[in-house]
Amino acid sequence: MRQQLVETLKAKGITDSKVLDAIGRVPRHLFMDSGFLDHAYQDKAFPIAAGQTISQPYTVAFQTELLQVKKDAKILEIGTGSGYQTAVLCELGAKVYSIERQLELFKITTKFLPKLGYRPKKLIFGDGYKGLKEESPFDGIIVTAGAPFVPKPLMSQLNIGGRLVIPVGEQVQVMTLFVRTGIKDFEKHEFGEFRFVPLLEDKN
Ligand code: SAH
Repeated sequence: MRQQLVETLKAKGITDSKVLDAIGRVPRHLFMDSGFLDHAYQDKAFPIAAGQTISQPYTVAFQTELLQVKKDAKILEIGTGSGYQTAVLCELGAKVYSIERQLELFKITTKFLPKLGYRPKKLIFGDGYKGLKEESPFDGIIVTAGAPFVPKPLMSQLNIGGRLVIPVGEQVQVMTLFVRTGIKDFEKHEFGEFRFVPLLEDKN
């Protein structure tokens, strides 16, 4: 079933074989509530705890492809959610830091990811708008919730040459890639429209 999902993603235009292989290895059904097990390898988003969603595999593949993850790259993820995207990044050999603002999800992934053998460098309960200054700079930052604007700290926590992949917009989001080409210079590229749950401001 996982292989079939990989074929679907190929047919939809994902070409990076490392990304496809990583998706082919992660047991997505284990990241979902039991009620949706039959659907785990369909290319669709599904509800998880705390009113959030596990992203559609195509979206995960698309964002991961844009991130161009190299082995041992330092990657910051905003919105751990189910931990599925985190696992894909771990499969690619990245050093992953991931921030989640829902305590319930943070607690679940903290236990669950190591059980599957996935060891992100750090899972953080906190507000992704601020990034993670103490561990910066990052080779890549991936935001997996819809951002009404691009948070400045995320731009400044990128390495030169680093890539920020972020869906920007309120109701509908435009997938946006920023490549940091110098201290003050960023290249901006826009891709198609996607729909994400919102990136919410700090609760405190
Ligand atoms: N990467 C996840 C996608 C989960 S949906 C997966 O593969 O399953 C987006 C997640 O972003 C949700 O869990 C939501 O709680 C979280 N989120 C929203 N606003 C946030 C913020 N300001 N900081 C960190 N996480 C946030």
